[in-house]
Amino acid sequence: MTISANPTSQAPGSPESPQEADRRSRESIELAREIIKIDSTNGNETAVAEILADYLRANGVEAELIANDPARANIVARIPGTGGGPSLAFVGHNDVVPADPRDWEVPPFEAVLDDAGFLWGRGAVDMKDEVAARTAAMASLSRQGWRGAGDLLLVIVADEEDGSANVGMNWLVKERPDIATDFALNEGGGMAYPLADGRAVIDVAIGEKGTCPIRVDAVGEAGHASMPEIGDNAVPILGQLLTILGKGQAEPIDHPTIRAMVSALLNDDDAIDRLGLVGAIAQASQMHPRWHGALTSTSGITMAPTMLHGSKARNVMPARAAVELDCRILPGTTEAEVMAAVRARLGDDLSYELSHVEPAIHGNASKPEGALWALMAAYAAQTLGSQLMPVLCTGFTDSVFLRQEFGTVAYGFSPFTTTPSEVIEAGFHNKNERVHIDDIALSAAFHVHAAQTLLG
Ligand SMILES: [Zn+2]
Repeated sequence: MTISANPTSQAPGSPESPQEADRRSRESIELAREIIKIDSTNGNETAVAEILADYLRANGVEAELIANDPARANIVARIPGTGGGPSLAFVGHNDVVPADPRDWEVPPFEAVLDDAGFLWGRGAVDMKDEVAARTAAMASLSRQGWRGAGDLLLVIVADEEDGSANVGMNWLVKERPDIATDFALNEGGGMAYPLADGRAVIDVAIGEKGTCPIRVDAVGEAGHASMPEIGDNAVPILGQLLTILGKGQAEPIDHPTIRAMVSALLNDDDAIDRLGLVGAIAQASQMHPRWHGALTSTSGITMAPTMLHGSKARNVMPARAAVELDCRILPGTTEAEVMAAVRARLGDDLSYELSHVEPAIHGNASKPEGALWALMAAYAAQTLGSQLMPVLCTGFTDSVFLRQEFGTVAYGFSPFTTTPSEVIEAGFHNKNERVHIDDIALSAAFHVHAAQTLLG
C-alpha cells in the first residue's frame, strides 16, 4: 500500500521540509519491515545490525558493530556534539522472543502490511518498530546537517530478551564506557490510556522492579505414610502456609515512584496524604482497566507462589516441604526487607524457615523530572493532548544497566497513538504482534524533536 503523509509525522517546531518528514516516515516503516524479516529469535542479531549500520552510513552517520559473539553484534552510532551540552542515547534491542507460526494469522517473519495500515510480525511492538524509528530519526538528523551541543548516540543491543549470554547491554556497558550518556530513550512506555475522568495519559517507564526469590520450607517431622497421625507431615503445614500467602499480592509501600503513579492517575499530588495509601491506590486503580489489580501488584513486594517441593517418595511423609516465591521488589527494597515482609505475611504460628533461592537482582528508577521529562511532557500536551504518567515496569529492560552503570536518566517512551493499547498488550511476546505504521512514523518524528530540543 502507499503510505500517506501522516499529519503528525513532522516534528513540531523543526525547520525541516515536508519532503524530509515524508522521507523519514517512509524510511522508518521500510526499515521496520526489513528488520522484522530477519529472524533474530535470541540470536542472529548481527544480520539486523548490519542493515542498520549500512543505512546509517549511507546517511553520513558513523556506526560501529561491537560484538562479544560474532553472530550477536551490538550497534553503536554517534552524531558527535559540538561540545558543552547534554548527551542523549536512542536505545533498543535487536533480538525477539520466539514465535510459533502455527499460532499466527500471518507468518511472523514476513512483515505483512494489511490494508488498515497494521504491520504484523514478531518484533512489531517489541521492539523493531522503535529500533527502526530511532534509526530513521538519527539518519534524518544527519541528512539535515544537524549537530547537537552534546553527542547523540544510537545503541541497539543483542540478547535483551534472555540476557544470559553476556553479549548484550550488560556486556557492552563494561566493554564500552564511552556509550555513557546523560539521557536515554528506550522501550517500555508511550501507550495512551483514556481515563475515567475524561483525561488521557500516556505512560512513561521510569524504572523497573527487581526480583528476590524466596524459598519457604515448612518444617515438620518425617513419618511413614501408612500412619498419618504419627510424625508431623510438612505437606499439610505447607498447605496452611499457602493459604495464608494466597496469590501473593503485595502490601503497598509508600514509595516515590508509587506516589508519582497515583498522583498522575488521580491528577492530585495530595491523594495519598488525603485518602491513605491503600485508599488512594484503590481509587487510582479505577481510572482505567489496565490498572485494576496491576497497580497494587506494582506497589510493593509481591510474593507469588510458583514452584513446589514435597516428598521424594509417596510412602514417606516429609519433614520438609517447600514453595518458592517469585518476589518482585521496588527500587531500593533490600533482601532483609523481603524476608521481613514474607515473615510478616506468614506470622509465627506455623513452623517454617525462609531462605534466598538466588541473589536478588535490583531494579532502579529515574525521577520523573528534568529536561527530558519536561520536553516529553510538553510534547504529550501539545501534540497528543495527554499528560504523562510515570510507570514502574514489572518486567525488565536494559535501562537498568544504563542507570546502574552510568547514572543515566533513562525512560521507556515511544508514542503510540494509532495502535490501540489492547492490540499492543495482546501482541506483546504473543501471537499476532502488530503495530500501526503511523506510530512508527510518529515515533521517528518524536525522536527528531527530542534530540533537537534536548541537545539544541
Ligand atoms: Zn523489548
